[in-house]
Amino acid sequence: MEKISTNAINAISVRFAPSPTGNLHIGGIRTALFNYLFALKNGGRFVLRIDDTDRTRSKKEYEEAIVEDLKWFDLKWDEFYRQSERISIYEKYLDILIENGLVYECYCKEDEILKSKEIAVNSKKPYIYNGKCLNISQSEKEKLKAIFKEKGIYPSIRLNIAEILRRNYDYAAVEFDDAVHGRLSFNPKLFGDFILKTEKNRFTYNFASIIDDYDLNITHVIRGEDHLSNTPKQILILKALEKKPPVFAHISLLYGKDGKIMSKRDAASNIKYYLEEGYLPKAILNYLAITGNTFTVYDTRNGNRHAFEKEIFHDVYGMAELLDIQKAKSSSAIFNEDKLKFINEKHLAVLSAEELKNILTEKFRAAQAIEKLEAEYGKDLSLKIIGFLKNEFKTVSEILKELEIFFDGFTINLNGIKYDDELRRSLLNNLLNLNDFDENSIKNVIKETASQNKKAVKECYEALRLFITGRLDGPSILKITGFLGKGKIIKRLFL
Ligand code: GLU
Repeated sequence: MEKISTNAINAISVRFAPSPTGNLHIGGIRTALFNYLFALKNGGRFVLRIDDTDRTRSKKEYEEAIVEDLKWFDLKWDEFYRQSERISIYEKYLDILIENGLVYECYCKEDEILKSKEIAVNSKKPYIYNGKCLNISQSEKEKLKAIFKEKGIYPSIRLNIAEILRRNYDYAAVEFDDAVHGRLSFNPKLFGDFILKTEKNRFTYNFASIIDDYDLNITHVIRGEDHLSNTPKQILILKALEKKPPVFAHISLLYGKDGKIMSKRDAASNIKYYLEEGYLPKAILNYLAITGNTFTVYDTRNGNRHAFEKEIFHDVYGMAELLDIQKAKSSSAIFNEDKLKFINEKHLAVLSAEELKNILTEKFRAAQAIEKLEAEYGKDLSLKIIGFLKNEFKTVSEILKELEIFFDGFTINLNGIKYDDELRRSLLNNLLNLNDFDENSIKNVIKETASQNKKAVKECYEALRLFITGRLDGPSILKITGFLGKGKIIKRLFL
């Protein structure tokens, strides 16, 4: 037998282990983030492991989407593994359990098991495997084996819990200190002899996951608290192998405003939603990190929560430094889009125009729009326009939408909108005569037009905005006019 690695490396190691059976949920990004920050804080390594042992439900396209999403957030991993490529490792550990007589083959048929499960459900009891195959005779086994072989299926392999308990001096409770939930205790007799390898010859999640965690020297398993019930089973597997478990931290799931766990039904659970709404990846991470009191954001002098401003972290280092995983308690992480928007605005504010330009290109599929802008305005003026819009809006999608008004081909549809055509002509004539098309001169023209037409200056500004942007409100029209320049303005005023 090959040498099996020992858990000798002391450095902090964490992993994010998504199953490629669907797209990542925003809660998945939060779990990935906590692992990433924990590694960053402790100078540890961050492993990305694709849990794809379920060959029928796992899809390559989902794996690619998961990788893309993590890259979008710049959550970089140090090592990458696929469970489907580590089968021989699971075999090795299973062999140890077989050799030590801590597992047994199960020939129960699926419908038999389903029936027992149904009975358990109907009598409102947890289903526990009855251990039937623990006691079948060798000759019966041979017979069943032949039948299974003919059908092309395998006996499933179950953990012999009674035997493990017996060898561990009647180990009565699986106990562990969860970094978030504190000391927890489970009665292993209630697990039933769960399956490590199925009749389809596939390793189950509980087995493959904890074997990987051990074999990859993972020191801290940080994951959603929906996995809390799997943990004692995984610890028991390691117990059978006489290995020490990692530290577990089961963090709170994300809850919607309605108090229910966020699910696929919530639009905001989908990562695409954030791209479409125009939230900056860093701002989303900042938001996810602080949601649920996970940070030491308290004033050390009086114990009060710091002002919200103190929860703005422009980079992951700041987040990592203050992360306190022990605070990621249950049901405190309630999703609040207004807060996310507020954080997004703060993140936009500190970006330089150049940085925002790069983000628009790389993260928001705006390469073409930027190219067009630069072709029409040149690089310098384009940056000024981006910088101007950056300070006017809260999200990238608002910025990208406003950017359209700067393009040559921008069409204005005034159908059905009442406007003063006299005023339009007057604005057109006065602006046509203007040579220096700077903000100040335009301002004077507006004033002049207002007095010529006996209109309020405000009304003239509103009319100008309508004719050149087709909108009734928006950022400073003087600035916009200055950027657009005479050619575009005149063209638009001609209608
Ligand atoms: N593949 C599991 C999931 O996506 C991972 C759970 C774990 O972190 O152990 O839920």
